[in-house]
Amino acid sequence: MHDHHDHSHCAHAPEGISLTPGRQLVLDKLCEAGRPVGAYEMIDLVAAATGKRPAPVSIYRSLDFLQENGLVHRLATRNAYLACGHRHDRTARVAFLICESCGRVSEVSSPDVDANLGRLAESSGFAPTAQVIEMTGRCRDCAA
Ligand SMILES: [Zn+2]
Ligand SMILES: [Zn+2]
Repeated sequence: MHDHHDHSHCAHAPEGISLTPGRQLVLDKLCEAGRPVGAYEMIDLVAAATGKRPAPVSIYRSLDFLQENGLVHRLATRNAYLACGHRHDRTARVAFLICESCGRVSEVSSPDVDANLGRLAESSGFAPTAQVIEMTGRCRDCAA
């Protein structure tokens, strides 16, 4: 198994961001999972860890906070969240390669795509707030 995602800084918030224990736990669980996790699955994971079932709204708030601070990405097509160890800012352009066969998700970025997308938005007078590309298909292992 190979992993393109750098998880070494995964569970640590950057300086200047303090996480409540609840938010830290959500981040820890996402990092442990190493794959996209939906909000309801997260409720189960937190319940299993704490012995107490959290309210959905508190899980959504934690996920929103982590997302706003660039610690997790939301995959719209899966309605799921993925921890990010890259510490790029919230509006960074990233692409996700989502394998429909094994569920592996790789986060990739490319300066070329970045520049082209930037020009595309600019020429349309569009001010993006989130720039995430999701590609579904088969990963190298599953295609083999
Ligand atoms: Zn990222
Ligand atoms: Zn695969």
